[in-house]
Amino acid sequence: MTDAPEVVICGGGIAGGALAAGLARRGISVLVLEQLDAYRDRVRGEMLSPWGVGDARQFGVDDCIYAARPSALRSWIQWDEVHHYSEAPTIDLTTTFVPGVTSPLAIHHYATCKAFTDAARDAGAEHVMGIRKLRVTPGRPPSVAFEVDGVERDVRPRLVVAAGGHAQPVARQLGLMRRGPYHHWGGGLAIEGLDGWPDAVQAFGTEGRRNFMVFPQREGRARLYLNFPESDASEFAGPEATRRFHEAFRLACLPPDLSERVLSARPVGNSAVWPSRVTIADRLDVDGVVLIGDEAGSSDTVLGTGLASALRDVRIVGQLLLESSEWSRRDFFAPYREERAHRLRRLHHTANFLAVLSCEFGPAAAARRARAWERMRQNPSYMITLMVTVAGPDRVPEFAYSEYVLERLLAPERAAPPRRRPVSGLFDAGPAGNANVPEIVANA
Ligand SMILES: Cc1cc2nc3c(=O)[nH]c(=O)nc-3n(C[C@H](O)[C@H](O)[C@H](O)COP(=O)(O)OP(=O)(O)OC[C@H]3O[C@@H](n4cnc5c(N)ncnc54)[C@H](O)[C@@H]3O)c2cc1C
Repeated sequence: MTDAPEVVICGGGIAGGALAAGLARRGISVLVLEQLDAYRDRVRGEMLSPWGVGDARQFGVDDCIYAARPSALRSWIQWDEVHHYSEAPTIDLTTTFVPGVTSPLAIHHYATCKAFTDAARDAGAEHVMGIRKLRVTPGRPPSVAFEVDGVERDVRPRLVVAAGGHAQPVARQLGLMRRGPYHHWGGGLAIEGLDGWPDAVQAFGTEGRRNFMVFPQREGRARLYLNFPESDASEFAGPEATRRFHEAFRLACLPPDLSERVLSARPVGNSAVWPSRVTIADRLDVDGVVLIGDEAGSSDTVLGTGLASALRDVRIVGQLLLESSEWSRRDFFAPYREERAHRLRRLHHTANFLAVLSCEFGPAAAARRARAWERMRQNPSYMITLMVTVAGPDRVPEFAYSEYVLERLLAPERAAPPRRRPVSGLFDAGPAGNANVPEIVANA
């Protein structure tokens, strides 16, 4: 192992692995440090939006995503207690939201991480698994200390990329991280032996006190997700947690027998749940260190765009590194800071909308959901906010992030007069980038 790679990437997940592959393929010497001893299934996001695939393609690493054998998702069906299953709204996901990408992909998170890091290794990167006691010290140059197999190492690269995901190990050490608000809890479970689920259909809906999602994968496997009120969190703790999580998919709003099919499948591993918390990095870079992926801050997972957003970070940071060798220039990452602040403002806005629409429970919330879907049916242009998730925040005009659209969809009276105020600048991202996360809209 060299003591002076050009780039050390802390975390060999989606963001770290993809960046390592792209840089190593262009001849940059990279060392990836991963705490896991081996990639294995864990509860993580597995629906990859088309804009994430598009960014991976632009950065020349989309072949790794396909090497991990994803499956295409071709329809999004909103099976929900507010309409009969035969009238469930359906969104055609084969629409070309992003040039060259045919639909969202259901990936296997761990297999995709492995495919990225294998590609990085094939291109000459070093990839060390099972590291402990990671310690990053910013500077020019920065340094990284860690332990592997009981041996301490110290490396001095030109740049450290922090890509440790939601745990934010480096951002926390450097005091760059803040925990934001949360609106509900969420979690996931993998199942296998799911026979007869409609081909390539992702399900999304709310029934009772549960918002649910089903993302079918290959060969009878699927990832199940739930969002629920914090007061129900204890139901998904303890020795019966996985059984209860699975049992929550006994849903009357699904077509006859589909719920039974999910229940007849077998859990793979255990369910995991936690507050669906927004995390915020107050700064995206300090001397010789830059944060990417969830380590740089994330939105409510109800949005389902964390993977795509991580791959956008990879493309933008990766391209900056490839375009100029002046990595230690003070404003080097300014374009990344600006783009990410703008992106996160839009993603937080959309996540707040989805949380209010789908993750509030009870009769008033159900009535509001019924109204919103009916209004979208009558006027499909109101689906513009939902399109952010598949097309990406930059491909959807500012109008989608306006309170005008939220009011038209969520307010009880359809005739609510539009507010006369500019649609841009509703949430001021401010100089600290994504620090000013808009407040969660209160229960209405
Ligand atoms: C329940 C749930 C559902 C979700 N649903 C979706 C979805 O449908 N679609 C979507 O796009 N996103 C979804 N997400 C979000 C998505 O999973 C993340 O945004 C994405 O994985 C972020 O990629 P990352 O590379 O930043 O982090 P990760 O892919 O988690 O990688 C981080 C890596 O860093 C490693 N690491 C951590 N600490 C250390 C350390 N100290 N030293 C060395 N290595 C370390 C980890 O082991 C891991 O390999 C969901 C998340 C959750 C929790």
